[in-house]
Parts: sequence; C-alpha cells; structure tokens
Amino acid sequence: MILMNDFKSEPEKLRVVMLEATRRVIESGWYVLGQEVEKFEKQWASFCKTRYAVGVGNGLDALEIAIRCLYIDVGDEVITTPMTAFATILAIMRAGATPVVADIEPETGLLSMESVERCVTPRTKAIILVHLYGQVRNMDAWQMFCRRHKLHLIEDCAQAHGASWQGRMAGSIGVAGAFSFYPTKNLGGLGDAGMLVTQNEELAQLASSLRNYGQSERYYHTEIGLNSRLDEIQAAILSERLKWFPEFTRRRQEIARIYHKEIHNPIITHLAEPDEYDSHVYHLFVIKCSQRDALKNHLKNHQVQTHIHYPIPVHHQKSCLNLRRDSQGLLNTEHHATQCLSLPCHPQLSEKQLEQVVDAVNSFHV
Ligand SMILES: *Cc1c(COP(=O)(O)O)cnc(C)c1O
Repeated sequence: MILMNDFKSEPEKLRVVMLEATRRVIESGWYVLGQEVEKFEKQWASFCKTRYAVGVGNGLDALEIAIRCLYIDVGDEVITTPMTAFATILAIMRAGATPVVADIEPETGLLSMESVERCVTPRTKAIILVHLYGQVRNMDAWQMFCRRHKLHLIEDCAQAHGASWQGRMAGSIGVAGAFSFYPTKNLGGLGDAGMLVTQNEELAQLASSLRNYGQSERYYHTEIGLNSRLDEIQAAILSERLKWFPEFTRRRQEIARIYHKEIHNPIITHLAEPDEYDSHVYHLFVIKCSQRDALKNHLKNHQVQTHIHYPIPVHHQKSCLNLRRDSQGLLNTEHHATQCLSLPCHPQLSEKQLEQVVDAVNSFHV
C-alpha cells in the first residue's frame, strides 16, 4: 500500500540523530521547558522570521493561547472557515469566544473574503486564517481587510510550515501564528507539540505565562493559565528534524508539480496552482471529483491510500449544529466536502510510487 504518511521509510540517518537527541535529553536530567525548548524556540522564530516563539503542548493550545493573549473573551466573535481541522473551532470556544464560520472559495478551499465580510458584526474581534493544505494566499488583501474592520489577524499555520507570501513567512504576517508539530504535519515530532510565533513582545510574554499555569515567576500566578508545556525530548527531536525540513518541503513541492502536470482525467479537477512556488508547501495534495467515493475505492484497489480533508464541515458536526455562519449559507464548503480527496504526497514517496499514483488516478472512469 502507498501510504499517506510513511514514517518507517524515513532515512536511517534521521532515525540515528533522533535517537542521539533523545539520549542527550535523558542524560541531561531535565525534561520539560529547558534548554532544548529554548533552543528550538529560537530556531523556529528565526525560521519564521519572527522575534518570538513560545513552545506549547500542541496546535490547539497555540491557537487558544493566541486568542486569549488578545483579550478576546465571552461574547466576542472570531470568524474562521468550516473547512478545517476541528481544533480551529475548538480553540475559539475554549478561549470563551464565539466562532462564526464563513464560506470558502471553490478553487483553493480557502476562506472567501466576500463571505467573511458578510459575517462581520460589531462583536467581531479577529479572523483566524487557516493556511489550508499548506497554501498562503492574498495576505496583503487580508491585512487590509483586517485593518479596515479593526480586527486581529491570527494565522493557523498547522499545515503551512515554511510557506511564504512574497518573502513573508507564514506565521509572521498576522499578530500571531499558531503551529502544530503533530507527527503528520510537515514538520512533526514523535508526539504532540506546538508553537506560537509573534513579533509582539507583550504577547509573547503573556503566552509564556499562560502555557505554564499563568505563572509570572515561580509560585506567582498573575493569569488563569493552562498546562501546555513543551517537553525537552520533542524539542530536541524537532531541532534535528528541522535540519532535514527544507529538503522534505522541496520534495513535497516536486511531487505536487508532477501531480499537477501528469494527472489528467476529465472527471477530476485540480485546485488552483500557487501564485509563487513557496506560497504552497503541500501539506496535502487535494483533488476534486464528483465521483469521489468511487475514486477513493478505485485507488484503494490500486494500493493507493487516500484521506478526505474534510468530509464533514464543522457546522455539520453534532456538537456545532447551531454555529453562527454566513447568512447566505456555506454551499461551497458543503460541495467541497463531498468532492475533495487527498493523495499521498509525503517526502518519502518514491518515483515509482509517484508514477503508480498518477496511473491509478488517470485510469479511473465511471
Ligand atoms: C492539526 C491542526 C490543528 C491542531 O493541531 P494539534 O497539534 O493536533 O492540536 C489546528 N489547525 C489545523 C488546520 C490543523 O491541521
């Protein structure tokens, strides 16, 4: 089976350095929020071209902490997309605010500005832009939009490590960027991990306090925080994996270029190609097909694993049926959910496997 993620086929050399990093931490005798975390925070801030980075437990917490650092509270509204990981919505709710979902654009799956415009009310405080599938687009327009409506722009970068827009890195454009280093993300650890990046010193300080019980110094709790500390083993492993990361990203982009070029099938639609090469890091390579479930089955029979991101839009989740939304509905989102299919595009995919996926997709007919 050609897998969506194939960690077991990662280079032996990478496994060796991860084992060495783990040993280094075990022998240091310090396991949570220490030198390894500080080192990786500096590396990640530098990679994202931000002044600060605060390591946290996971991507959900990075988002919740970002929202709370902006003093967004009960009764405040945050607009985002229903075509996302559930964590995006959950973070808004956990921060005590009210999520509002707007529709997406069919060509990219990203938030539609027109729809967001209809969702803005006097209670709206922020927009969470999800860089879905790894794509960063239109950031100048979004920044202008947020300035015009006096809204904070938060970037959900959980799928967009290393993506950039006109030389500006994902996470450095809004007031805060939230990353997840869950194993399957473009940069992933061997467990849960996350990070908040920002250019704002005050925000970074508040985030460091919130992740550790709201402590300002030991035993002094100036905020009602949470426990979302990053551990040393994950940080050490992420530091090692960061060295391989540019090469892995290039491979994802190469695979995507080949899929775009080689997949032609009259019943399959591609999403829009990126405007600039590095504005898309292909966390996922997604195609659309009106016979999606039959295609998924056909690929499975040809030994190609696929996933769906996402089959159930957030406003159709049982826990979210009353979610506030665009008054004109969310038709593009609902349509996308029935048509989208993600193909394997991880960095370990071989030339032969790539060819097999292309042939399998092209041979599908109804
Ligand atoms: C994975 C993901 C998250 C959540 O990250 P966790 O580390 O799993 O909490 C948030 N948003 C998006 C878009 C994601 O893909």
